[in-house]
Amino acid sequence: MALYIHETCVGCGACLRICPVDAVSGKQKKQHEIDRSRCIECSACGRVCPTGSITDIFGAVIEKLPRTAWDMPKIDREVCTACGICAEVCPTGAMEMEKQGDVRFAAVRHPSSCISCEWCYDNCMFSAIEMKERDADPAKGRGEKLSD
Ligand code: SF4
Ligand code: SF4
Repeated sequence: MALYIHETCVGCGACLRICPVDAVSGKQKKQHEIDRSRCIECSACGRVCPTGSITDIFGAVIEKLPRTAWDMPKIDREVCTACGICAEVCPTGAMEMEKQGDVRFAAVRHPSSCISCEWCYDNCMFSAIEMKERDADPAKGRGEKLSD
């Protein structure tokens, strides 16, 4: 099953604006739709929909959530091998590689761009990433020990 926008959609365009891959289309005040061939199933559209009109891959309504409540990846620098796969798969460019001295590691360098899609988490082969509550201080989203 794919994500779907139901007829309760009021055409506000919130989903269209948040979608990182331009999978949503629709005219203002008209029901919007998702192009399955483009959608990466991140569910960000559902989390911003004010009318609860979007269902997930299981057919369940995605609840609206304030952005401050969206989890964000935390990178364990001790485990990160700096392979760069997380930065490659990140659809918004939030994750980038960082260098401090001779040490290279992944970091959420643009926390406000992170849409909590979990692609970095799903693709890390070394389990160096955990999805955790977003810090009030965005600078803390950068690479750090998970135990900190
Ligand atoms: S689930 Fe993500 S990629 Fe798919 S339409 Fe919604 S915002 Fe776009
Ligand atoms: S969860 Fe990871 S891959 Fe997804 S937007 Fe945030 S940093 Fe990028």
